[in-house]
Amino acid sequence: MVRCPFCGSEDLTLISSWKYGAFDVYRYKCNKCGNKFNYYKGKITEFYIPKSKNQKMNKEENKEVDYNHEEVKSWLQEIGEVLGYYTYPEFGDEQYRFDIVYKLFNSEKQPPVAVFEVVDSNTVDNSLSRLFYAYRTFRPEGLYLIVLDNKYQERAKKLLENTYPEIKDKVEILDANKIKELRDILNKYGDEIKKLINLGK
Ligand SMILES: [Zn+2]
Repeated sequence: MVRCPFCGSEDLTLISSWKYGAFDVYRYKCNKCGNKFNYYKGKITEFYIPKSKNQKMNKEENKEVDYNHEEVKSWLQEIGEVLGYYTYPEFGDEQYRFDIVYKLFNSEKQPPVAVFEVVDSNTVDNSLSRLFYAYRTFRPEGLYLIVLDNKYQERAKKLLENTYPEIKDKVEILDANKIKELRDILNKYGDEIKKLINLGK
């Protein structure tokens, strides 16, 4: 039985599910405390993200490390949900998968209006080639590259300039801290925002 990692309640609502590597991931909302979390189920292990609200510590250097890829993806989902988009993790076709996409309608066939790629290591090139493919295939309104470490910003800008000039002015590069801030604010005022943006709908 899955329990909320924040309050221990078993009263949960399943929001979405997807595959991540060897894991089946289930995203739940707790009906008791209102927190959302991802539950990872593998053949032998299972775990929750976020385990706690504290930053992880890097054992060797004993300093704060950057957020992980999955955390940032869950924030992008939370932001999309509050703003009224349908969010799809690992959306894609046989050629490419995108970390998170936003759609206006809940349909597999609907093209995304925004595509997000989260860069967690030296994979800037791969992420940009996926965004370029997304641009050519779906023509989304928004193309976003979220960098977990600012040292990848320069590389991303150079690649956009030299390798992907067609999307140079279309890709917005944001750092993960900004996504976290946005998510925290939207979570805090989520219910009020949802009411206000749904007037007349
Ligand atoms: Zn709870």
